Amino acid sequence: MLSAVARGYWGWFHPCARLSVRMSSTGIDGKGVLANRVAVVTGSTSGIGFAIARRLAQDGAHVVISSRKQQNVDWAMAKLQGEGLSVAGIVCHVGKAEDREQLVAKALEHCGGVDFLVCSAGVNPLVGSTLGTSEQIWDKILSVNVKSPALLLSQLLPYMENRRGAVILVSSIAAYNPVVALGVYNVSKTALLGLTRTLALELALKDIRVNCVVPGIIKTDFSKVFYGNEPFWKNFKEHHQLQRIGESEDCAGIVSFLCSPDASYINGENIAVAGYSTRL
Ligand code: NAP
Repeated sequence: MLSAVARGYWGWFHPCARLSVRMSSTGIDGKGVLANRVAVVTGSTSGIGFAIARRLAQDGAHVVISSRKQQNVDWAMAKLQGEGLSVAGIVCHVGKAEDREQLVAKALEHCGGVDFLVCSAGVNPLVGSTLGTSEQIWDKILSVNVKSPALLLSQLLPYMENRRGAVILVSSIAAYNPVVALGVYNVSKTALLGLTRTLALELALKDIRVNCVVPGIIKTDFSKVFYGNEPFWKNFKEHHQLQRIGESEDCAGIVSFLCSPDASYINGENIAVAGYSTRL
């Protein structure tokens, strides 16, 4: 009875169902909770995006990884395929429309549809004040961090509708508590909270949930400037009490959960992965 309900929920309407012997939303056949689903993850050849891509694939999804540099895509694909995971990869600078189109085409190769979009690509080319920022830098940060998730999603939308899919945006703890030196980056990450809530409403009738993960300091190339700095680290430990900085994998399980049927009533939410959250 239960398996019949689960099949009805996930299986009958799913374009990939024909490809599989048995649908699974419980992992009981060993394929994982995201089996037969397709995920696109941007900025996924290192750091947080890479950990998310790996986790979604470990949980059964076919994952399309991407980033700007071919050598990084090649490295990440070889690494994950070497672990026996189902991944494809393509170069995609999320700020470039033609690259986004190619990413969509690559994602459709697998089974003609996409279930999950995770937007991890993000940049911060400047340390400095908001008002001291040139228009060119404003445009770059807003284009990559804020506009590109929405534009990529609009390109993918026809292939995501009515598949009980999910979109996960990656913001930053700087959205809740602006870091003085990170001016426009703070603004861009706060904008993602608004984008999450707006898209969650716009897409609910298309059966797509939209949520946001809000990392604190996570040990990646991106945050070297923080965790490599001794006074910062001392201050961090005093404020967080937790005596460690986050790892990329700390952000991966929550994304898999937000994609899974267990999160089917969670929409428009933002969730901190920061060791401690100052948000009420
Ligand atoms: P990371 O380790 O530097 O990795 C960034 C990834 O994104 C790489 O795969 C990079 O590969 C790719 N990338 C960069 N610019 C891109 C673009 N324009 N288009 C497509 N791909 C691009 O960074 P991370 O720390 O994992 O950061 C990931 C996300 O988490 C970002 O949105 C960041 O704002 C957010 N975040 C990070 C922290 C932290 O402490 N690390 C905290 C809060 C939020 P290529 O060079 O090949 O493009």
